[in-house]
Amino acid sequence: MPDQDLSYILNELGEEREQYFRAIAPPIMQSSNFAFKKVEDLRKVFEDEYSNYLYSRGLNPTVEILRKKLAALDGAEDCLVFNSGASAIFASVFANIQSGDHIVSVGKPYTWAQKMFDNVLPRFGVATTYVDGTKIENFERAILPNTKVIYLESPNSWDFALQDLRAIAELARAEGIITICDNSYCTPLYQRPIEMGIDMVLQSATKYIGGHSDVVAGVLTGTREMMKKIFDNELLNMGNGVSPFNAWLLIRGLRTLPLRLERITVTTRKVIDYLKQHPSVEEVIFPLDDSFPQLELARQQMTGACGLLTIVMKAEKMEEIVTFCESLRHIMMAVSWGGHESLAIPRCASLQPSAFNAAEKEHRMIRIYVGLEEAGYLIADMEQAFAAVH
Ligand SMILES: *Cc1c(COP(=O)(O)O)cnc(C)c1O
Repeated sequence: MPDQDLSYILNELGEEREQYFRAIAPPIMQSSNFAFKKVEDLRKVFEDEYSNYLYSRGLNPTVEILRKKLAALDGAEDCLVFNSGASAIFASVFANIQSGDHIVSVGKPYTWAQKMFDNVLPRFGVATTYVDGTKIENFERAILPNTKVIYLESPNSWDFALQDLRAIAELARAEGIITICDNSYCTPLYQRPIEMGIDMVLQSATKYIGGHSDVVAGVLTGTREMMKKIFDNELLNMGNGVSPFNAWLLIRGLRTLPLRLERITVTTRKVIDYLKQHPSVEEVIFPLDDSFPQLELARQQMTGACGLLTIVMKAEKMEEIVTFCESLRHIMMAVSWGGHESLAIPRCASLQPSAFNAAEKEHRMIRIYVGLEEAGYLIADMEQAFAAVH
């Protein structure tokens, strides 16, 4: 995306300043409902809530500003903003299936996508086949006559496995199957799946878009027709749209998104260089690192990778990993990522201690998110935590 387009989207697009005293920052339109003078006008809105302000469970002016910016960033016709990334996942899939349908999903998708596929959708007779997403043949083989949706997440947020988005989009188009891709890792600044033929793109806006660890929200983009269908059904029925205040925080987050990603990219490189030479680190997994198995594909479809990486720690016992994580003084142990603060989370936190097996590489993984701090500050923190292990 040319810089002038990006600057226009983030600073001007959707902002009707003449309507609010030429204020630089948009107002938070904290109103549940909107008044009418004519019955005829009200009747029109009842017929099409997607085009007019009626009630803030549907459209709201502050949310509209955000929708326009996020649609433009993805190169999509339209956008819906939800009260969580999980809501965006649920709505995008639920809108496109009925009982008896089949879904193909990339293996190990985001936890709550997987829980939806495993626990919720089977209640409606919808089955999901998981595939190793690194090979296009696996998708070809998994497609059934009743497959309606292919669900992707590229890269995923633990081992950063990629899917070839162009090839899968082409395959799905030919079969009339809808493709959905979780783009939380890259954001539209570093990957634009719609341009590769993917039908719908979602993001947890909680991560980089919000950027300050103070909002939970989700973005979904696609055609205007598809967004209207989801708005009229899933969004209005579940009432899971973003609130005006959270939309306002996300607009504020967008102003500095390029700057934050640039800074994090530089710091992450320094952190990776440090980790790769450390004797306690067996492997660093990062999609734009020279050692990454799908580096070529990453370079083809991503223009950046940012602050999330995984290390495989050399350890014989789980205690070593626990000691490292608990010894960090500045890098906090928490889920999520994309905020100002650096974080670490060990894979073994999802295991019962008795199930830990040092021979399993995955059990020794620690995911690290590099935030906005100085590289030296983070490296010194890790250095003393590694020292505490031995
Ligand atoms: C966090 C996350 C989500 C879910 O978003 P929420 O805003 O937490 O509901 C979805 N996908 C990925 C890859 C995530 O990291």
